[in-house]
Amino acid sequence: MSIDPCRRYAAIGGPDSTHAVAMPSDHGRARDLKAAWVRFWCSTAIGGCGTELTARVSGDRIPHFAHRSGVRCTGLGDPRSHALAWEHLVMQHALQRWLESLGYDVELERKVVGGRVDVHVSTGVGEHVLEVQRSPLSVHRRVSRTELYSVDARTVSWLWDSPRRDGEADLQLRSDGIAFTTRLDEAGVVQVGTLWRVHDPADPAKSWDVGYDDLDTCDLDQHGLRTSHRTFALQATRIFLEEQQERDAQEAQRRAQERAQQQDARRQRQEAEAREAQRKRDREQQELENVRARLAAVRDGDGSPHSRPPAEWMPPSPVARRPTQPPPDKVVAPHTLAIARMQRPLGEWTPPGGWVGLDELPERLHESAKHLTLWVRERFGASGLDDLQWDDVPDPEREQVAWLLRRGYILLNAKGNRWLRA
Ligand SMILES: [Zn+2]
Repeated sequence: MSIDPCRRYAAIGGPDSTHAVAMPSDHGRARDLKAAWVRFWCSTAIGGCGTELTARVSGDRIPHFAHRSGVRCTGLGDPRSHALAWEHLVMQHALQRWLESLGYDVELERKVVGGRVDVHVSTGVGEHVLEVQRSPLSVHRRVSRTELYSVDARTVSWLWDSPRRDGEADLQLRSDGIAFTTRLDEAGVVQVGTLWRVHDPADPAKSWDVGYDDLDTCDLDQHGLRTSHRTFALQATRIFLEEQQERDAQEAQRRAQERAQQQDARRQRQEAEAREAQRKRDREQQELENVRARLAAVRDGDGSPHSRPPAEWMPPSPVARRPTQPPPDKVVAPHTLAIARMQRPLGEWTPPGGWVGLDELPERLHESAKHLTLWVRERFGASGLDDLQWDDVPDPEREQVAWLLRRGYILLNAKGNRWLRA
């Protein structure tokens, strides 16, 4: 169990002193501290009440400071900020003792234009600033204050509170490649932490590691605060950044491959869809062709696709063809001149050019030939040769067929067994 931070600190030298100490948790060290300073105060410099404190180092209790009985401290406000104020004082003085032990000139809370610096150091070859920052500070303010302090100092070293993810130390480590923290150990001794960047696949949230040094192992040089971990930390961060570049490149490559695979899969899918659509169109086209063929067969003949007129029936010169109709059903309507007279009387009808050449035929075939002419001109376009005579008008010599051919009303096929209207 840790003790209340407000009971851990005290000022030495007087009620308004800024020289603060921390009570060690170890009883032996605590007795040494008590023997060394004897009197302790609740410092008004950080808002305390200014009364004298008692150092309690006895029994089984953790050593601590306490107000005297009956004293009601008026200065303790928010415990956390009060503790931070005490820590700040303790660290400032720890830094002062350390730097003076190195033979440097130290000035605390030195005023500069636009502010004050915590610790200003002259080493004889250069001037440095150490900023102990325990409370939150934005990156923007850190940068602007660094610029301000750099006016009369060669280096500015920030000493942050314990590191945390995206905290001040973490952010400075990422931007500057180095960052420092401070802590008070159980003995009340100030240590400096040096941060470096790490990549831990097992713990992706971990972005830094830290090594601690006692102040008396540290120094200042042209780069500012030098800890025994600093060289190692800079190298570790440089290696981290190189490996990070590699990791980024590998990640970019992996994503590019993933994208390429996705594009490939999409293209294959589109091609498959296009092939399927083409197959569907082909099937529909084939079905359409089949229907057209069946329709043509029905229109041109007896319903069989093989009954189309042979090619030799095509007339030698362009002749307007009227739609072909099927021959009459002889069972229903016998092919007789008597029926033809009733169904389609000749009346005044004549073919183009009139009945020229009719007297080439015997008288008995004149009316019959006229009806056959009407029959082929107006009613039928093609049929068997037997249709070119009437059952009730004998024409054993086929004189009427010869006459129709001569007059140019019909054509015959090669076999001479079927006719076509000319
Ligand atoms: Zn007090």
